[in-house]
Amino acid sequence: MTLTPVPHAPASPASPHGNRARSFLTVPATAAYRIINARVPVDLAPALQDTGDADRLTPCEIVVDGTKVSMFGAPGSFPVAADLPTVDLSDGIVLPRFVDVHTHLDKGHIWPRAANPDGTPDGARGAVMADRETRWVADDVRERMDFSLRCAYAHGTAAIRTHLDSLGRQAAISFPVFAEMREAWKGRIALQASALFPADIAIDDEPQFRALADIVERHGGIMGGVTYMGEKLSPKIDAVLDKLFEMAAARGLELDLHVDESCAPDAVSLERIADAALRHKFKGRVLCGHCCSLALASEEDFKRIAGKLAEADVAIVSLPMVNMYLQDRKAMRTPRLRGVAPLHELDTAGVRVMVSSDNTRDPFHAYGDLDMMEVFREATRILHFDHSDRPWARMFGAASAEHMGLPKLCRITAGEPADLVLTRARSFQELMSRPQSDRVVLVNGKQIDTTLPDYRELDHLYAKPVLEAGRAATA
Ligand SMILES: [Zn+2]
Repeated sequence: MTLTPVPHAPASPASPHGNRARSFLTVPATAAYRIINARVPVDLAPALQDTGDADRLTPCEIVVDGTKVSMFGAPGSFPVAADLPTVDLSDGIVLPRFVDVHTHLDKGHIWPRAANPDGTPDGARGAVMADRETRWVADDVRERMDFSLRCAYAHGTAAIRTHLDSLGRQAAISFPVFAEMREAWKGRIALQASALFPADIAIDDEPQFRALADIVERHGGIMGGVTYMGEKLSPKIDAVLDKLFEMAAARGLELDLHVDESCAPDAVSLERIADAALRHKFKGRVLCGHCCSLALASEEDFKRIAGKLAEADVAIVSLPMVNMYLQDRKAMRTPRLRGVAPLHELDTAGVRVMVSSDNTRDPFHAYGDLDMMEVFREATRILHFDHSDRPWARMFGAASAEHMGLPKLCRITAGEPADLVLTRARSFQELMSRPQSDRVVLVNGKQIDTTLPDYRELDHLYAKPVLEAGRAATA
C-alpha cells in the first residue's frame, strides 16, 4: 500500500498551520481600550486589596492607553469614558508577562543531534560536551537562541536570564552572540547572561578564569560556575569560592551558580557559598540554582544552612522540571525522589525563592519550551504550591524580576507598559488543568502573534558536525 506523505507546513511565522490553537479573543486594535470582569493574583498587583479568595485572586479592571496601563484598580474604582472599546474577560485571570531567571538558551534544541543516551546527569554532560566541541559556532548558537526566544515571547515571557557554557573558547563565541540577541530583542524580552563553567578552574586554570571574567565584564554579564561536579564535594571548595567572590567583588559582578544538582546527601556546597558570602561581606546579588541535595539534609543541618542563606541574602531558584528528569534516575528503576529544593521551608526561613524553566530540548531535559505557564503548572504539582497560603503566584516571575533588578516587571501597575497575559481560566484550578494554549499575550498594549515557531526550521542544524571534534574547546 502506498501512503501519500503529509506535506510539511511552511516555516512560521507565515505558517497558516500554527502550533497553537487560536487565541480565545481578539483585543481591539484601537489606541485605548478597557478590560473588564478580570481577576488578577493580588500578589502581582500591589495596588489591590486581598478579597479573601482561596487563590488570592481579586477582581479588577484595566484601561490600556497606547503602550501603557493607564488605569488599574477594583471594578468601578475609576471613571471610564462610556464609548471606550471593551474586552470582557468573564472573570478570566489576567497575569503580567512572565520572567524566567534560569535558562540555557545556548543549549536549547540540540536534542535531535545530541540526545541524552540514558537520561542521567553524566549522560547529559557527555552529550553536551561532544556537541559543543563540534557544532557550537556563532551561527548555530544564534539560530537556536533566536528560536528559543521566539517560543518564550509567544508564550508571554518578558525577561530571561540564560547561562552560557563558557569553557575553552566557547565564551568568546557565545557571549558576543548573546550581546547581539540582547540588542535585537530589546523592547520584547530583556536578556541577561551568566557564565557557566566548572568553578574549580578559578584555581586550576587561573589564566582561563581571568580571561573569562574579562569577557563577562565586557558583555555586562554575571559570574557563574558549577560548585558541585561529582559524588563528593571538591576539597578545594572554600578556596574556589574565595576566588569567585574576590573576582566578582573586584569587578562589581553578581554571582549565579549551579549548586548541588544531585541527590547525594553529602554534596552540600550551598552552605559553603553562604559562608563565603558572609566571609567576604559580598554586596552583589547571589543566586543558587537547583540545590537538590538540601532536600536530604537533616532537620538540624537544614535549619543552620537556611539561617545562613537568609543572613547572607543568598537566593534560591528551583528548576523542578529538569530535576524531575535528571534526578534519582537509574536504568530500570522507578525514581523515589523528586529532587527539588525544599522551597516551602526556605521561604518560611526568610530565604528568597523562585522557580524557573532551565533546559529545553537538550540532553539535560528532553522537553520544555520556555513556557512559564508550564513551569508554574508543573512546579505547583511537584512542589505542592497548592493547599498553601503562601503567595506562590510570585513564582511566575515577580520574585525573579526583583532578583534580576527589574522590579517593575511581572506585576500590574498603572503607568507601566501594558504587558499582559489574558486567559479564560477563572481559578488556578482551571488555569492549571489546561495548557492555556489559547492565551492572549499583550506587549505594549498590542496583541502579539502567539504562533509558535515550527521545529522544521531547525532541521538543517542537525546535519553533520561543523568542526573537528575537540577543536572548539581546546583551540
Ligand atoms: Zn541550569
